Amino acid sequence: MLLDIEKLFPPESMTIMIVDDTKANIDILRKFLAKFGFKTTVALNGEMALELIPKLKPDLILLDVMMPGISGYDVCIRLKKDAELKNIPVIFITAKGETEDVVEGFGVGAVDFIMKPFRLEEVYARVKAHLTLSAAIKKLTQDNETDSLTGLFNRRTFLQKIENEAMRFKRNQKPFSILFGDIDLFKKINDTYGHAAGDAVLVNVSELLNTGKREIDQVARWGGEEFLILLPETDLNGAVLHGNKIRELISEKSITHEGQEIQVTMSFGASEYNDGSTQIEKTIDLADRRLYLAKESGRNKVVSEGT
Ligand code: GH3
Ligand code: MG
Ligand code: MG
Repeated sequence: MLLDIEKLFPPESMTIMIVDDTKANIDILRKFLAKFGFKTTVALNGEMALELIPKLKPDLILLDVMMPGISGYDVCIRLKKDAELKNIPVIFITAKGETEDVVEGFGVGAVDFIMKPFRLEEVYARVKAHLTLSAAIKKLTQDNETDSLTGLFNRRTFLQKIENEAMRFKRNQKPFSILFGDIDLFKKINDTYGHAAGDAVLVNVSELLNTGKREIDQVARWGGEEFLILLPETDLNGAVLHGNKIRELISEKSITHEGQEIQVTMSFGASEYNDGSTQIEKTIDLADRRLYLAKESGRNKVVSEGT
């Protein structure tokens, strides 16, 4: 598995941030890491590091402990409090090799230490080991959260996102909506063109569901040819508008698979979450029942009323 990870995340695609107030240290590390194909970025103190890291999102940080102003330990503590940054591996660079310093460093969330003066081969070995490990964790997390065919969120992850949205409703009282979509007569597509063509349709439809959505909207593959879309801060009318937009997008596009043109349509049920005491499962069920009404009344439509 580790070999695959290296292929998936080659060194050339990795960025390492070096944080050090001594220019000579930066120069040595930069030159050395460049030899192995790594991209490097630099911050000359803790303040600069905290400003640049959220923007550049490096894959690993080499962090000097002793710097004027914010210390390396404090930089690390702040990073670990940020959900988006806390998984970036931090290796401390230090001349302080006392046991209590090392223990403190691990305590604030570092994955490793590199002692000054540098032994460069050791720097490479540690950097590589931690990049591989963190790439493996990233990959496992991704596999765990997404559906392998379409790359969309899976059911479990999506349920978590809706739960979060329901919690947000408790704070801001802004309704959100759900669209439950199902490809029309999909069985016939499998029967006519084959299962591989069916899969290609699922991938294409997933891409279309992702197009035209706002950044905060979330799309999941709920099961077979069923998809759920979460529309934060959107009322039922907004959901119907969005549903019709993608419904049209899907019906207008023909999907080419091995020279065959395949046309599909999709039906949607929409529901709104507007009461903090409602279970999210109820909101999903309502959208599902309305989807059924859309199927019953002719397909290729969005239904937001009834049941
Ligand atoms: P309706 O318009 O009422 O939704 O009809 P339908 O044919 O889409 O619905 P039905 O539930 O009868 O059929 C769904 C089909 O989806 C059957 C199943 O074989 C197919 N399917 C489910 N998952 C996959 C998949 O991952 N790949 C492919 N190719 N087909 C799948
Ligand atoms: Mg279907
Ligand atoms: Mg179905």
